[in-house]
Amino acid sequence: MRSAALILLCLPATLGAQPAWREQALLDLARSPHARLHPVPVRAVKLNPGFWKSRQNVTIEKSIPSLLTLLEEHGVLDNFRRLSNPADYTPRRGPLYTDSDIYKWIEAAAWSLQVRPDPKLEATLDKLIGEILSAQEPSGYLNTWFVEDREKLRFRQMITGHELYCLGHMIQAAVAYYRSTGKRALLDGSIRFTGYLLRDFGPAPKQPLLTGHPELELALAELYRLTGNRDYLRLAGYLLSGVETARLKLLPRDTAYTFSGIPFTSRTQFEGHAVRALYAAAGAADYWLETGDAAYRRTLDTLWSDLAAGKIFVTGGVGSRASGETFGDAWELPNRQAYTESCAAIAGLLFNQRMLAATGDAKYAALMERALYNGINSGMDLNGTLYCYRNPLATGSTEKIRNPWYNTTCCPPNLQRTFAALGAYFYSTSKDGVWAHFYDNSSLDWRLESGAALKLEMKTGQPWNGDVSITLNPSKSEEFTLYLRIPDWSGDTRVLVNGRPAPESPQANTYLALKRLWKPGDTVTLDLDMSGGLIFANPRVAEDHGKVALRRGPIVYALEQPDNPGVSVFDATIDPRTPIVAEHRPGFLGGVTVLTHKGHAYPRPLDGEPLYSAQPFKATRPVDLTFVPYYTFHSRGPGAMTVWIPVQ
Ligand SMILES: [Zn+2]
Repeated sequence: MRSAALILLCLPATLGAQPAWREQALLDLARSPHARLHPVPVRAVKLNPGFWKSRQNVTIEKSIPSLLTLLEEHGVLDNFRRLSNPADYTPRRGPLYTDSDIYKWIEAAAWSLQVRPDPKLEATLDKLIGEILSAQEPSGYLNTWFVEDREKLRFRQMITGHELYCLGHMIQAAVAYYRSTGKRALLDGSIRFTGYLLRDFGPAPKQPLLTGHPELELALAELYRLTGNRDYLRLAGYLLSGVETARLKLLPRDTAYTFSGIPFTSRTQFEGHAVRALYAAAGAADYWLETGDAAYRRTLDTLWSDLAAGKIFVTGGVGSRASGETFGDAWELPNRQAYTESCAAIAGLLFNQRMLAATGDAKYAALMERALYNGINSGMDLNGTLYCYRNPLATGSTEKIRNPWYNTTCCPPNLQRTFAALGAYFYSTSKDGVWAHFYDNSSLDWRLESGAALKLEMKTGQPWNGDVSITLNPSKSEEFTLYLRIPDWSGDTRVLVNGRPAPESPQANTYLALKRLWKPGDTVTLDLDMSGGLIFANPRVAEDHGKVALRRGPIVYALEQPDNPGVSVFDATIDPRTPIVAEHRPGFLGGVTVLTHKGHAYPRPLDGEPLYSAQPFKATRPVDLTFVPYYTFHSRGPGAMTVWIPVQ
């Protein structure tokens, strides 16, 4: 039986009736029976000059090339080369999970080829992929840490070993490169490694398996979507089933920390390592999209509510405690100590992306937007060469948060793969129409699910202005629904169709469904509500009690020391009776709208005042305050910064 299974597993997976590689979406839900929305290919959306185009440009032109240089300098590629070239012996370098860093970089570079074809980059990728695959063992196993005298430790360090985490990123890189170039070498290599797992691991009598760092689950779901081989989905289900607690002798603290090892459907709250937990949730959402298992739906709803009600920062960042990079308790959202790893915000994006696809509920897009524009966007600096591992909501005057390199360099390529593919997050289709989730200058060149070609052009001043204009060009007049996301922050939205008010009034945090016979050249305009300004936290959030954060549209603001020379940012207060004024500064921080406010400070700097006093401290000194978008913090170097300001 075993040899028969082996032969089957070694056969190349047939792509059969799957869409051709060029037609496959970023997240390909075209055949997922429980997906309401279907994402589009990266190449179907062109970002045009504007807010995100400049971030994508810097990702492709600066960040991706400079990170490859750093990965080479730190031996991440040599870790593979040394295995196929034993004569040229060099010791392995870096922590045990470095393989995942180059896989994530390959994924980012692969998506970028759909945005901007680059034969030189593609040739570099082909060469690197060849070198990586040269290190793959005949069995299919590939990991540069568990070799030589550590070979005996394979799959024996499942909580800390990151073996399956690295495989997950290998699969995701392979899928991205296939969808961008049609080239299968890395895909076939990742299928060989997955075949090795399927052969020896799984329910008894096979050996038990635990992801330890969830990530493989979502990769397996995508590999299933690409190949049609249901064994990959079954393996994801086995990992999520957490049936191996006893065989692996897992302790409650292990299963809490790794968010694996007990049935996913028994979870009632997010806990443990934030990236692990949110990748597990994203993988479970993938499993639900394919199986429709109601127990998964219930658990995912419970976990999402737990996240939204008390465990996500106003920036979309996630992970309150540095110790173990973990979630805290509900409402435990410290600002300066916030861990908020860039990868955790991205993992939250992936979780919400899948929940949105399953349901079409705007509440998921709201959390995606909050993270994208703030706690993910902050992760890479304006020049594309410095990265945040942590994205705290306050910093002291000397904390260096942005660095070119981390020994654990998971975040930089994770940010790159997000920004490189970003356009594909903007639109979806469903059987009855097309969906616009986020607003930026962009062109969609795709088709309706009826098969009719559809071009759509979006022009906007977002995120600084509220005007959005959309021109639809279906190949012929056709009845379908245009679903427009009305952002949660836009309390008073106006929508016109060909100059006339939309039949239904837009409601914040929903999708406005415009069903009609659309003709080439029809236009829709939105006037989003850019007023607002103050955000109050639930008083249970002790750190933010008596404070406010400022936002305008999707952008959360911060008070930074360089803009406020006369007052420490920690001595400033907001006067809610005084207006907050928006002022666009085209040449500042890459072109941003700043907010100014006449607030108050304490008569003398608080660092000269006693720690305790029988009298309340009163801020009476008028000061002019200037706030900059949070995502730009420390663009001018380390310095004091805070998002939450006392209100007085
Ligand atoms: Zn990270």
